[in-house]
Amino acid sequence: MTVSPAEFEDELAALGRELGSYLGESRAGATPVLRQPPMRVLAETLGAQRWLDQGGLQGPALAEFFRTYLAHSTRLHHPGYMAHQVATPHVRTALAHLVDGFTNNAMNIYEMGPAASTLEYVVINRMLEWVGWTPRPWPDELEPGRDHGAGFLTHGGSLANLTALLTARAHAFPSAWAEGYVGRPTILAPAANHYSVERAAGIMGLGTRAIHHLETDARDRIVPERIAAAYRAASEAGGTPFVVVANACDTAVGLYDPLREIAAACRELGLWLHVDGAHGAGALVSPKLRHLLDGVAEADSLVWDAHKLLATPSVCAAVLFRNHRDQAGTFRQEASYLFHDKDQPGFDFIAHTVECTKAGLGLRLFTTLASLGPQGLIAHVERLVELGQLAARLISARPGFSLPVEPQTNIVCFRYGDDDERQLAIRRAVLRDGDHYLSTTMFRGRRYLRLALMNPDTNERTLVALLDAIAAVP
Ligand SMILES: *Cc1c(COP(=O)(O)O)cnc(C)c1O
Repeated sequence: MTVSPAEFEDELAALGRELGSYLGESRAGATPVLRQPPMRVLAETLGAQRWLDQGGLQGPALAEFFRTYLAHSTRLHHPGYMAHQVATPHVRTALAHLVDGFTNNAMNIYEMGPAASTLEYVVINRMLEWVGWTPRPWPDELEPGRDHGAGFLTHGGSLANLTALLTARAHAFPSAWAEGYVGRPTILAPAANHYSVERAAGIMGLGTRAIHHLETDARDRIVPERIAAAYRAASEAGGTPFVVVANACDTAVGLYDPLREIAAACRELGLWLHVDGAHGAGALVSPKLRHLLDGVAEADSLVWDAHKLLATPSVCAAVLFRNHRDQAGTFRQEASYLFHDKDQPGFDFIAHTVECTKAGLGLRLFTTLASLGPQGLIAHVERLVELGQLAARLISARPGFSLPVEPQTNIVCFRYGDDDERQLAIRRAVLRDGDHYLSTTMFRGRRYLRLALMNPDTNERTLVALLDAIAAVP
């Protein structure tokens, strides 16, 4: 049934009030940061089966339904939210998300979303500049002989890593797309890589055993001087190394690999350098923090999630390339109704992405950036990293607590006592209380409690209360 514009406006206003209360309650920490009733019970509470059977979810019932939905959603705007690397999204960007869903402009071809495509083009260029790469000229100013950077947004860092590795493969093995593999292409990566790298190896048909682990130091960071030895070892075992994947930063403890030295080793050996900056590339926007990625401009590709440090709703991941030429052969495939010679204005991202239909991700990141402004963005990223430093100071000052490494960013791992099982028991107890939400991780074979400080509203009081609560777990 058609919804009239007036009805739509009313429902939107009602929803706005629900979201406003949710935001107020969440920020005040007035409700638990998460609730996890059994799924069967929650389906009943939501009236899920009933609404599916009868339809007619509209008007006041719709507002009521969203109130219940929000009450059972995990509150990323709650100061006690410090569990995962997903951004506390900028509130205004949620409006952009709504507009994107409303217009449903599948912007991967310009004609299906000129404004959305343009904003993606613009934010990608801004990101290229932050890396230190040359932005792409406007489509009507492109010159065949000129080198520049390139990139696009995609649905998440995992897909972004897969796409960048496909590009690295196309660079080293141009015939692989059509003919498959001759020999055994090998990925060099630290054991502390994100699991999406292993998945990519599996999906690409290389096999996960085609990942040869690089030597790392006591903090799980790549030792650049040992890359050549790993290259030789992998080659002697019958492999053909073609890419090094470095972390900026790693997921477990948030440490950055030394990119400049790694890039020099890769250049020497003729290897593609892919930097997985899904979490940590956000440091590039801050003059104070960008040294963490020193040398990143020497890499060939970079993945950067805006839905982590850049306060943007999930998912919004950038894949960036130093040289647009390297990107050209990634997908050699024709779909004649989409990929005809351009006789229209604009730029089509579709040739470069796994997705055919794609959401207006550029609008999301653009709205965050344009709302915060350059200084607001820097303040946001620096605030999260300062919270990491603050948490580390508070933790080391307490008896019984210890840190495996000094944090470099807003990810902080620690433990209370020395027993692995105890860390899991602590997390269960803290989550039951509902004031704080944290995660755990394995690092060098031991279990640690883990904070990802994504919410700028988290403060010293929140952190002290968390440590008090942990110390009080029997
Ligand atoms: C989060 C993360 C990913 C995966 O990104 P998604 O957007 O969750 O798919 C990949 N690599 C690193 C280092 C990450 O921290």
